[in-house]
Amino acid sequence: RAKDAGGNRYEVADPDSDARAIDRHSLTTHLPAALERDEFFLEFQPLIRMSDGTVDGAEALVRWAHPVHGRLGPDRFIPLAEHTGLIVPLGRWVLEQAVAQTCTWASGLPLRVNVNLSPRQLHHPDLVPDTIAVLEAAGVEPSALCLEVTESALISADEAELKPLWQLAELGVDIALDDFGTGYSNLANLRKLPATTLKLDRSFTQGLQRHPADPVDVTFVEGIVSLAHALGLAVTVEGVETEHQAGQLRELGCDTAQGWYYARPSSATEFAREWATS
Ligand code: C2E
Ligand code: MG
Ligand code: MG
Ligand code: MG
Repeated sequence: RAKDAGGNRYEVADPDSDARAIDRHSLTTHLPAALERDEFFLEFQPLIRMSDGTVDGAEALVRWAHPVHGRLGPDRFIPLAEHTGLIVPLGRWVLEQAVAQTCTWASGLPLRVNVNLSPRQLHHPDLVPDTIAVLEAAGVEPSALCLEVTESALISADEAELKPLWQLAELGVDIALDDFGTGYSNLANLRKLPATTLKLDRSFTQGLQRHPADPVDVTFVEGIVSLAHALGLAVTVEGVETEHQAGQLRELGCDTAQGWYYARPSSATEFAREWATS
């Protein structure tokens, strides 16, 4: 029967993907109300200095407390919000919440907060004024904020598109290249980006888990770290799940690490109890 309908028969024949499609449609239409009803919340995951195991900052990660489907991870709704444009107000909300959070932690350590930016936010004309306004309203130094932009979002950006990031960088905001190593960027382009940090994608960390580690992965990480350091960039590694990985990545010269081995993302309160009081 699907065949008779012609066209894209897989869409009809696979009940699973059909259910997912309906789900996505309903999720998409509910996004604006969800923002109004305060159904989004942030979790924080520490970034750990590999030299001494102390905390350097936290990455803010958004979640959706959906009234019917329960807790949804960003992979379920960020692409939808990006598609509809809701990512712009949602992203601003994330920025405000994340920056406000650093103030409540300030009693202990001056912690940095990392906030993810999607391509649509990057290209929105309000990015720079909004970011400045949020920092000023909270009385937070620009250097306490790091904006994470994926390598793939920047790969095709021309000079004009990079200008807002340069402006923010000049104010003192840190810029991290997220999921580094998964795109196909021309490494020479790194010099043209206002980045201060490379976040090495989790796939590299996974390659180091084997005993012995895949020599190709080791070489790759070594190469990226030395290139990054030569360009004055710090290296953060994502997805560190074991002591073995942590040890190797420290030896390979990575500066900061993030992953379940240190801590899972948790509520702001839990994060403060665990990390911001020492
Ligand atoms: P990301 O920025 O690369 O964030 C790291 C992801 O890895 C997070 O997934 C985090 O929970 C997960 N993770 C951390 N440590 C480990 C580990 O040891 N093992 C494994 N397997 N995973 C680990 P999460 O929270 O599901 O976020 C997924 C992606 O959604 C993020 O990837 C980011 O691209 C996007 N995202 C999250 N929050 C926001 C946001 O506020 N705005 C935008 N635009 N994107 C966001
Ligand atoms: Mg990130
Ligand atoms: Mg990442
Ligand atoms: Mg990643």
